[in-house]
Amino acid sequence: MPELSPLPPGSTIGILGAGQLGRMLVLAAARLGLKCHIYCDVHGPAMDVAATSTIAPYDDYDALSSFAASIEAATYEFENVPLACANHLAKLVTLRPGALALEVARDRLAEKTFIAGLGIPVTPFAEVNDAASLAALLAQWQAHTILKTRLLGYDGKGQISLSPDSIAENAFLAIGRQPAVLERRVTFKREVSVLLVRGADGTVDAYDSPENTHKNGILARSVIPSGLEPDAAAVVHKHARRIAEALDYVGLLTVEMFDLGDSVPIVDRFVVNEIAPRVHNSGHWTIEACIVSQFENHMRAVAGWPLGACSRHSDAEMVNLIGAEVLDWHQLAAEPGAALHLYNKGDARPVRKMGHVTRLRAKSD
Ligand code: AMP
Repeated sequence: MPELSPLPPGSTIGILGAGQLGRMLVLAAARLGLKCHIYCDVHGPAMDVAATSTIAPYDDYDALSSFAASIEAATYEFENVPLACANHLAKLVTLRPGALALEVARDRLAEKTFIAGLGIPVTPFAEVNDAASLAALLAQWQAHTILKTRLLGYDGKGQISLSPDSIAENAFLAIGRQPAVLERRVTFKREVSVLLVRGADGTVDAYDSPENTHKNGILARSVIPSGLEPDAAAVVHKHARRIAEALDYVGLLTVEMFDLGDSVPIVDRFVVNEIAPRVHNSGHWTIEACIVSQFENHMRAVAGWPLGACSRHSDAEMVNLIGAEVLDWHQLAAEPGAALHLYNKGDARPVRKMGHVTRLRAKSD
């Protein structure tokens, strides 16, 4: 597609996916006078707030073509968009970020190979295609490891922790006998993420990196400031910028990293776990604590607008409401200073992200 001039207010941006990330993208776009058209194969919470919605399969090329005809640019809110769908759309309308970011981020093997190729540390990994190759690696590494499916893994899904004496056949069966990667389990001091935005003109900015705590593989809490020293913050931003530039990325890019601690030389200290070519749960606090949120900056980048300031005016803590935790909504709504977000997802199933709460404090750094 030819380069796009900045879209004027009143334009419509298409979003593939209808989850809570899409919902918050729509709300942020609305503040700028931009409308959204959601495309998803099932009904989702973004459709409650969007100007237009289409429910159709991702391989319905007629529906995708009609969708493309109704929008001025397109983006996505999840990384498992089928590549054929992204490529079809990209022929008809400007797609930001482009299909390359999806191609790399949706496949753990492609992702780790790409990032390691840029000279950025990743967890030691190896390709696993069958139980025999897994058995050989377990015997050779003699370490605690995690077996992860290459495709469709998120929030700890499609993965299993292994020890050197685990039975390879059982482990491979447990992940559905799918192509996978075996990763060494690393001992980290903490987890941080970089939320970086790159504009259509190549301008780059980043939010302060939060510290993230996971429970059962799902993000539970993000806290900012994370206490990263300025030289460490510069290194994580440099890693993320390198990845964004190599992907010719436009939009908000998330890079999740393990911090091995300050006893490790700074060049080896931050190990990339994974990237997400989209806005991210660990950046929800930017809605209240920054001048311009991750959601608005993503939409600004997609629309070809100047980026807004990522600067943070408050400290913040974001806590996810997972499953039944959302049933405390009334109490949370009554809590002074708590910013409550509910996604209207219906049943509070056990591992479902139902909402989140952000609490602000006076800026301490
Ligand atoms: P993932 O689905 O890869 O994001 O993994 C979910 C969570 O599992 C991460 O945020 C970490 O807390 C943990 N985890 C994943 N991979 C590793 C690893 N190689 N070593 C230690 N912990 C890990």
